[in-house]
Amino acid sequence: MISGQCFCGHVRYELSGEPKFACHCHCESCRRAAGAAFVTWVTFAGDDLALTSGTISEYRSSPGVRRGHCAICGTTITYWWDKRPEEIDIALATLDDTTGIDPSAHIWVEDKVPWLVINDGLPQSTAS
Ligand SMILES: [Zn+2]
Ligand SMILES: [Zn+2]
Repeated sequence: MISGQCFCGHVRYELSGEPKFACHCHCESCRRAAGAAFVTWVTFAGDDLALTSGTISEYRSSPGVRRGHCAICGTTITYWWDKRPEEIDIALATLDDTTGIDPSAHIWVEDKVPWLVINDGLPQSTAS
């Protein structure tokens, strides 16, 4: 069972399935939502997520998109997109153990901060 939590520990969750895909997103929305240069997401089936404690607050950051964060400390945790209702993205760095879940791409690199140099050899795309 994969588990994770926010910074303050208010939100704890478990993921019952297997991760489908992990990538680094450089889009401006992710950057601002997390206050970070980029956000690393891992995709699961939406049914895989079970909150074991706490409350996730949601913010509609753009049409059809709901970003979830801890209601107390604000940690970015989830990303739902109405066009992919069967899947959920989880902020990979909130997992208790990220071993074996390796990102395989960079997306939205047209929004990348100029001082970040990508040299990990992963494919880069200019749209999600
Ligand atoms: Zn929290
Ligand atoms: Zn993004």
